[in-house]
Amino acid sequence: MARLFGTNGIRGIFGEDLTVEFVYRISLALAAHFKGRSVLVGYDGRESSVVMAKTVCGTLNHAGMDCGLAGLVPTPCLEYAVKSLGYDGGVMITASHNPPQYNGLKPVARDGVEFSREDEEHVEEIYFSKKWPPVPDRLGVTSAESRAVPTYIKGIKSRVDSSAIQKRRFTVMLDTGNGAQAVTAPALAREMGCDVVVINEEIDSGFPGRGSEPTPENLAGLSEAVLMSGADLGVAFDGDGDRSIFCDETGRILAGERSALLLADHVLAANPGAAVVTCLNSGSAIDELAGGRKSPVIRTRVGSVEVSRKMIAEDALIGFEENGGFMYGTHNYVRDGAMTLALMLEAVAASGATVSEIAARLPPSHVGKKKVACSRRAADAVIEALRFGNPGADSTDGIRIELGGRRWVMVRPSGTEPILRVYAEAGSDGEMKDLLSEYVGKIESFLKQHF
Ligand code: MG
Repeated sequence: MARLFGTNGIRGIFGEDLTVEFVYRISLALAAHFKGRSVLVGYDGRESSVVMAKTVCGTLNHAGMDCGLAGLVPTPCLEYAVKSLGYDGGVMITASHNPPQYNGLKPVARDGVEFSREDEEHVEEIYFSKKWPPVPDRLGVTSAESRAVPTYIKGIKSRVDSSAIQKRRFTVMLDTGNGAQAVTAPALAREMGCDVVVINEEIDSGFPGRGSEPTPENLAGLSEAVLMSGADLGVAFDGDGDRSIFCDETGRILAGERSALLLADHVLAANPGAAVVTCLNSGSAIDELAGGRKSPVIRTRVGSVEVSRKMIAEDALIGFEENGGFMYGTHNYVRDGAMTLALMLEAVAASGATVSEIAARLPPSHVGKKKVACSRRAADAVIEALRFGNPGADSTDGIRIELGGRRWVMVRPSGTEPILRVYAEAGSDGEMKDLLSEYVGKIESFLKQHF
């Protein structure tokens, strides 16, 4: 059966792959799938998001379901509100960090976590076999849900030592990247007694500030702002506010993997033995760090849903992706930029040190990634060729080739964009970069030859 769901919900270019008619049909399939009557709907700041939200709500109402409309909120806010306000499910309209012309649908189960792969397959089965819901005995209604944001902020504050954070009176530089965390993160940081400065605050569908995806390469503005203001730390969020990339007080950007290690160290210090879940493409430093706390590290395929659902199954406290997605199980089993910021402030407050000092104590990690643009068909051919040449390699997700010691390379097609992602780890940054270049070169010459 064809798949509609990618790594993170359903994504596409609005008006092309993601037509209003498609949104209508997928919403009908969701109406047939959801058990219960009430669904919370939220959306990110994209131009097409409001049209999509109206289509989703209208269709669900037509199928007899009631919708709460949370409006423009970050994805983790919508997810948290679904579970804490007692909705039977949720739909977030977002394409996260994808370029402006994209949009997407991310359905949320009643536990506040993205659909499991089984739920996704069930929705796809309904969609393709057109098992639409029966005509209801009454039409549903859509009403504004104003409790989502305050419930979310209150929830996050309750998970950290707010008074310890308060005492430090941190200066925090937020780069909301014209995205949805502008609605919640500045308010949260202020409520925790921080002096808050925000850059790229205006929500804008075109993401004119620095693009919708925070990467170490496009955060020079954040680094500069931190240095200029003498802030204790900086943080940048992606378009829908579930991922966060930090900057230390010297203006140095921490890779997502480094901030995850820092937070894991902080959380595991108080909870030794607690399980950590991460993907196959993150580095080995977490094994060293968690091993010291007798904590198991469980690996999954790449994708936040894989991490979330594995965390639930294993009752894990921490989950993370190398791209700045961090999950704190006590709060919710999803990536959450604002929760991660609060946890970072707690870690810094507890240490009595600066972010750069804490980061310097962590085990070293030399992990990097690159992308190669290519069609899905070409990407599959690359993977097949690599599998053929490396018969013993792990093929759980794309291919991960172990090269001895801490050296490995992983190649997989992106689940959201027409690109191949190449990841590598080695004993030094130089060696890691060489390894990446070697494999990117191999892939590019294969593509030139065959496509
Ligand atoms: Mg996101």
